[in-house]
Amino acid sequence: MKLVKLLANLGYGSRKEVQRLIKSGAVTDDEGNALAENDLPPHESILFRGEELDPPAPLVIMLNKPDGYTCSSDDPGSTIYDLLPERFAHRNPGLNPIGRLDKDTTGFLLMTDDGKLLHKIIHPKSGCWKVYHVTLDRPLEGHETDLFSSGTLMLNSESKPLLPAKLEVLGDKEALITLHEGRYHQVRRMFAAAGNHVLELKRISIGGLKMPDDLEEGDWRALDADELAAVF
Ligand code: URA
Repeated sequence: MKLVKLLANLGYGSRKEVQRLIKSGAVTDDEGNALAENDLPPHESILFRGEELDPPAPLVIMLNKPDGYTCSSDDPGSTIYDLLPERFAHRNPGLNPIGRLDKDTTGFLLMTDDGKLLHKIIHPKSGCWKVYHVTLDRPLEGHETDLFSSGTLMLNSESKPLLPAKLEVLGDKEALITLHEGRYHQVRRMFAAAGNHVLELKRISIGGLKMPDDLEEGDWRALDADELAAVF
């Protein structure tokens, strides 16, 4: 049942469906030999209908999130899971976003099935900062840099001040902001506290890893070992 379990955990079907697929010869080695339920050759040599299998757990993927997609798996509207192969929704363990983005925030999102890694990245003490590109409704006034870096800014209905955040002004209504934590709607609420309004928000990097220029909006891919190491 080793092969059955592997394929079922990767979301290729229920155990019964996977058993049927194996019997039909849909799962082969890289020389085209049909595999049996108890076979388990090296992962990279297993083919499903002639295609490489999805990567096994633990998996970390990057996604360039478009506007209009929520990061929740049970939203009736468009969700980030719609951008992945349908079977990814059936993987066990499941893939979760590492630090959610709002529906109307775009850009760099990491997802993983590794709970420890997820907590390591989102914990404020991880030193894993996130950089956002912000487009504002009104011109910056000049006081925002000090306000955000003060470590004393308190958002409505919160009991602890925000950790210091860095603002890099790019233009009248444009800036980069670097955060070490990820509170609910944090960037939008910070600019609201400064008397402004965020029109567009895009995450461009997480820790030392910048979203690759060739990752088109709506596209995803697995991180390689160097990219994962760059996050911390
Ligand atoms: N801050 C926000 O306000 N929204 C996001 O999606 C991310 C950070």
